[in-house]
Amino acid sequence: MTTVGILGGGQLARMIVLAGAPLGLRFVVFDPAADACAGQLAPLQVGAFDDTAALAEFAARVDVVTFDFENVPATSARWLAERRPVFPNPAALAVAQDRLSEKTLFQELGIPLPPFADIRSRDELAAKAVEFGMPCILKTRRLGYDGKGQFRIRGEADIDAAWQALGAQVDATGLILEGFVAFDREVSVVAVRGRDGEFRAWPLTGNWHVDGVLSASLAPAPASVAQHEAAIGYARRVAERLDYVGVFALELFCRGDELLANEMAPRVHNSGHWTSDGAETSQFENHLRAVLGLPLGDTRVLGYACMLNWLGRMPDARAVLAEPSGHWHDYGKQPRDGRKVGHANLRDDDAAALADALERVGQALARQAQVEPVVRALRER
Ligand code: ATP
Ligand code: MG
Ligand code: MG
Repeated sequence: MTTVGILGGGQLARMIVLAGAPLGLRFVVFDPAADACAGQLAPLQVGAFDDTAALAEFAARVDVVTFDFENVPATSARWLAERRPVFPNPAALAVAQDRLSEKTLFQELGIPLPPFADIRSRDELAAKAVEFGMPCILKTRRLGYDGKGQFRIRGEADIDAAWQALGAQVDATGLILEGFVAFDREVSVVAVRGRDGEFRAWPLTGNWHVDGVLSASLAPAPASVAQHEAAIGYARRVAERLDYVGVFALELFCRGDELLANEMAPRVHNSGHWTSDGAETSQFENHLRAVLGLPLGDTRVLGYACMLNWLGRMPDARAVLAEPSGHWHDYGKQPRDGRKVGHANLRDDDAAALADALERVGQALARQAQVEPVVRALRER
């Protein structure tokens, strides 16, 4: 019986645990919070990510280690890697934790991306904002998620406000300035690489964000065949360079025919949640297969698949469950403003039928605005 250790006990760990049960796996999840939602399904060890005594106890309980959370200190990941196999490897984790190092890597690999600069002072910020043109976005290099730790600079008048908001972070997390991409669409590649180097990617996923947080996804994404192939090729380059093992996501902007990389996530990803009910093999199962050195499962989409995120509190499940291919995912979390508490997946072989189902769900749950862009993309098929 193999026991997989997961650093971080949120909904991603919870869904990895669910996917691991049929494979006969056991789990221990490690999280600083005693109410981490994966702890409802697997033994939870409570501890700080830099507590060596707690990590030693965790290592003793597991055969292999992986992550639900990318901001585990790289030193802790390296410390664990001396004691147990850790996937993805700590060096890959370290690159993906830092927007400056991940963007430098994309650049080295010839992956197009918006201009970016390491920012150390208000004067550097002002100079680079003028160079890149405004709007542009100041972000913390590390620890940002769901659009947190970002400031959009619309004109020179915003520079002081941006520095006031984030300047204090310059030593703690570092800062990066990025050119603003007036994108037509956002897409992501969710891909997996095995211990033997085998690489597979799910079809490109289209993503819609509201206030920097993912709201809905659709696979396959509305994008050209050339964009699909290019995006997956970029993901493969990143994975091979990092000797990556496991699932990861590469987020990109589409602007006309162009594709520009935004960021990568060294873990299973919200934009891959549709794979639980809309793909031959889910991202969660394939992540485990990769980490354990098992053959990878097929990544094809079953028709058209979409995901709707639920933030704050769970809506009534019945409208989704009434649909022939509607599936419900409740993370078992307490309601809280803006918190990701669950999602719904819907799929259909027919794009128009999926659009109809989404319209019914949007109407029943008073979420017309959330389903509308996905419906529009499906109607254009
Ligand atoms: P995630 O939850 O995806 O990890 P994050 O906090 O790491 O989010 P980003 O993905 O960098 O942040 O940004 C969140 C969203 O903000 C993007 O999906 C995009 O909609 C918008 N955004 C970020 N950077 C840019 C940019 N350079 N140009 C235009 N829009 C951007
Ligand atoms: Mg991110
Ligand atoms: Mg992102």
